[in-house]
Amino acid sequence: MSLNSSQTLTVSGQDLVRNGSSSGRPPWEEARAALKPSTPTKKPQPPKPQNAITIAVSSRVLFNMEKEQQIYEQQGMEEYIKYQVAHETEPFSPGPAFSFVKALEAVNTKLRELYPDSEELFDVVLITNNHAYVGLRLITTINHHQLVIERFCMTGGNSPIGYLKAYHTNLYLSADPVKVHEALDEGIAAATMFTPEKMTEVSETQLRVAFDGDAVLFSDESEQIFKAHGLDKFFEHEKTHENKPLDHGPLKGFLEVLGRLQKKFYAKGHRMDCPIRTYLVTARSAASSGARALKTLRSWGLEIDEALFLAGAPKGPMLEKIRPHIFFDDQMFHVEGAAEMGTVACHVPYGIAQKVPRKGVKDKETSSAVK
Ligand SMILES: [Mg+2]
Repeated sequence: MSLNSSQTLTVSGQDLVRNGSSSGRPPWEEARAALKPSTPTKKPQPPKPQNAITIAVSSRVLFNMEKEQQIYEQQGMEEYIKYQVAHETEPFSPGPAFSFVKALEAVNTKLRELYPDSEELFDVVLITNNHAYVGLRLITTINHHQLVIERFCMTGGNSPIGYLKAYHTNLYLSADPVKVHEALDEGIAAATMFTPEKMTEVSETQLRVAFDGDAVLFSDESEQIFKAHGLDKFFEHEKTHENKPLDHGPLKGFLEVLGRLQKKFYAKGHRMDCPIRTYLVTARSAASSGARALKTLRSWGLEIDEALFLAGAPKGPMLEKIRPHIFFDDQMFHVEGAAEMGTVACHVPYGIAQKVPRKGVKDKETSSAVK
């Protein structure tokens, strides 16, 4: 681009007339100054992927795209794109992962205050297999809701696994159980997120994460005993092996990074008002099988803030009280029970009794009151 001394530049709707003499600066410097945003952006820079705690979310869980999804399914790709382009300036409303992502940002803000030079922060990556046209609407939405999302992967319908690995993903949330399966198979912590009818209000200042134990934080080894030999044998087995830590499950790594960040807050005197709180919500009973779960966590050097042993009671009412931003369970029965009571619940399709969950279909065979 070249400028002569009387050229008019239109930048952000403002006309700037160059006369080449008012500031005494050469015209190209004037142009460069004019092209800078009038108010400097305060958006924090994202950390480098190797330093960050990367949370990859699909556009369908971060935003409410149900109507658009229906158009795609019923009318096909062309109508879908037409609709999206016609509504390009309308932001999507929040989806089930939205408040979780907001809470991650709140934690980042506090980490930045306490550790201004550290890049150990959450970084949210938006994964979408949408058409590029829809990308514009997604950017509009991100800006509308003032989300700090700088990384954006449009996979064009391909598997996201390559991207998830490249970004050192610590957690992947999607509405698509097939992609979640693929990620878990590659050793990436992943879960299928469901949208409750009515979402319970959650804290804006404290991130709360609730985990089931067996086949989520822990492996499914004890569940295998239950499936093969029943409840009595399960209790007996757990008692006998009380001092033998369970093997790790698919979400252990995510609890680990939360624990690492918690320790950074503790180190600055924020134990009681830590902006991250973790919960174990298990159907194990405290007396007979709870000790092994707690001893396992201790052997890993992990603390959990609250442990609830429900001895087979439904998890939904407890979760309603905890009001977590996210809850992980391997049993659809518990995921549905939690979602019915307003908790954003995620299914971790891992372990002996899994099937790919289908939306709206109660999976009685994979449900049990034990885990
Ligand atoms: Mg379980």
